Amino acid sequence: MRCPKCPGIMQMVTYGRKIAVHRCDRCGGLFCKPDVVLEMKREWMSEIVLDSGDAKLGKQYNKLDNISCPECAIPMDKCYDKNQVHIWYESCAQCEGMYLDAGEFSDLKYDTLMDRVRDFVKGRRPEG
Ligand SMILES: [Zn+2]
Ligand SMILES: [Zn+2]
Repeated sequence: MRCPKCPGIMQMVTYGRKIAVHRCDRCGGLFCKPDVVLEMKREWMSEIVLDSGDAKLGKQYNKLDNISCPECAIPMDKCYDKNQVHIWYESCAQCEGMYLDAGEFSDLKYDTLMDRVRDFVKGRRPEG
C-alpha cells in the first residue's frame, strides 16, 4: 500500500491481538479503521509502538489534505475530532479508513485533559 501523502510505503504494524494498522515508512502517517482507533485508545502504551513517526514531520504533512484513500483510491474527507477540534485527519467515506499524521494519534490519546485545562484558562463557560 502506498502512502497518500509521500512516496513512502504503508507497512502493516500490529499491536497485541486486535490492533493492526498501516504505517508509512517515511512520514510515519497511520492508516486504520475507526474501531481500531478505539482499541488503540484503550491499549496502554500502544501509541509508543504504533505512532512512532516524527510529530514535527507529521505537522508538515498535515497541511497536505487533498489525498486519496490508499485502499479505495477515492478522495478522502477532511474531518476533525468531535472532542479535540484541533486534530484534523482524513477519512474515507467508502471504507471508513482514517489517515492520521505522525503524532496525531498520541495527541488524540493524551490531549483530552490538556484541552480541558486550556478551556479553563480561556475562561470558556460550560455549555448547557
Ligand atoms: Zn508517508
Ligand atoms: Zn477507503
